Amino acid sequence: MAEPILSGYTRSMTNDLDIRPADPAKFIKGRTGQWELIIGLEVHAQVASNTKLFSGARVGFGAGPNEQVSLVDAAMPGMLPVLNRYCVEQAVKTGLGLKAQINRYSRFDRKNYFYPDLPQGYQISQLFHPIVGEGEVLVEKDDGSSFTVRIERLHLEQDAGKSIHDLDPNATYVDLNRAGTALMEIVSKPDIRSSDEAVAYFKKLRTILVYLGTCDGDMEKGNMRADCNVSVRRPGEPFGTRCEIKNVNSFRFMQQAIEYEARRQIEILEDGGRIEQETRLFDANKGETRSMRSKEEAHDYRYFPDPDLLPLEIEEAWIEDIRRSLIELPDDKKARFMSQYGLSSYDAGVLISDQARADYFEQAAKGRDAKLVANWVTNELLARLAKDDHEIGDSPIPPAHIAGLVELIETQVISSKIAKTVFEHMWDEKGILTPAEIVEKHGLKQVTDTGAIEKAVDDIIAANPDKAAEVAAKPQALGWFVGQVMKATQGKANPATVNDLLKKKLGV
Ligand code: ADP
Ligand code: MG
Repeated sequence: MAEPILSGYTRSMTNDLDIRPADPAKFIKGRTGQWELIIGLEVHAQVASNTKLFSGARVGFGAGPNEQVSLVDAAMPGMLPVLNRYCVEQAVKTGLGLKAQINRYSRFDRKNYFYPDLPQGYQISQLFHPIVGEGEVLVEKDDGSSFTVRIERLHLEQDAGKSIHDLDPNATYVDLNRAGTALMEIVSKPDIRSSDEAVAYFKKLRTILVYLGTCDGDMEKGNMRADCNVSVRRPGEPFGTRCEIKNVNSFRFMQQAIEYEARRQIEILEDGGRIEQETRLFDANKGETRSMRSKEEAHDYRYFPDPDLLPLEIEEAWIEDIRRSLIELPDDKKARFMSQYGLSSYDAGVLISDQARADYFEQAAKGRDAKLVANWVTNELLARLAKDDHEIGDSPIPPAHIAGLVELIETQVISSKIAKTVFEHMWDEKGILTPAEIVEKHGLKQVTDTGAIEKAVDDIIAANPDKAAEVAAKPQALGWFVGQVMKATQGKANPATVNDLLKKKLGV
């Protein structure tokens, strides 16, 4: 059911949005029983664009204060906004990536409020007619299961500048470089049921945007941040009153903020209190949320259509052009990695979560055993990089060398065990010596020369006559001999040859 609010503008009613069945495993235990967590995110993503949404001023980090401010951004009298076509294209592209409806008609509205770093006295946004309508995001969880978060809308709006309070004890400085920068606000429906799910959704959304090249996803610079709407209810009951935690810009903070907020609300309700709808801030130092403003004192923004801007009408043909230009999206890449390379859902998920990882893997897997390559990339290389907080782009080992290592294993030049030693050398070599050269230099070649292995086998059998006698009765004891021979050959003997020889000589 839809509730018309203004002509042409409809929005769904909250309780109709409750489509996800409750999973009892996710209930939160309170003093008086179980509670269910309901979450919806409003994500602000800075549009990757060289210039601002309504002016030609440059966008970018690192410029001196107020160096990227046009007369429009400074709101000089008489200045008029001109819509940046590229930012619109980026929003459409993002909408397509979210499998969302692209609205051929949208409009810009003024949201009026006073703020020192917003010289216009209003923000241009799209309340009534957003450029992108309903869509969806498929989110994978660590346990391999997945769920869908429905997107309510995506709209374009301007960002504000920055007030700097800590440069002078008696003054506040204003930097308008960010004023007028294009943001996409992506609003989810309240389909999220735990802090883990919220983080998984935010991560997936970030991956999609970064793939599309419509936002750089740099959370440290605040280029992607989320307002988290949180409420709790008794299982099966209607949604409760929500609180909104503003501007969360890290995965860890999101987890902490939501968990703290859920506990806070549960305690109030269990004490017989009521939740007041309000906006809260997360204090990362204290690990708590605190009230910023309540709904009662919320601003009346007096939204109205911006008279300086015509409605935005976009042509189907242009949308189709943009659709055709889309690169392979994360979900499609994952499906392809599973079918083309036979990877597990988990491995494929790890590799596609970052485009550079996926590219690295594909380069290394060319003509090689892809599953083996995936193992070396995810288990060894990524794990090793993660220790130093590095990503694949920082890898000292080029993809060709992972391919080389896997080739040595495939052709039985080295055993998988020795391969770990070779990998260590590869890490230290930083791409200078190839794996084959490393094997040569350190004499790590697998011994396939049966004569040499046979001698080691004979020596060990001779030295352990009682154990050898046991093997006939207990074939499992063979493993001990295999271990001894491998030790004697510094792990270089071909394990299959060792096995065959031992079986022959011990008569099992
Ligand atoms: P508003 O316009 O007041 O910001 P919306 O209906 O647009 O409210 O919802 C904003 C966000 O809050 C959306 O992401 C939505 O999913 C989420 N949300 C709505 N109701 C609830 C609720 N009861 N609990 C948690 N989140 C909610
Ligand atoms: Mg809102």
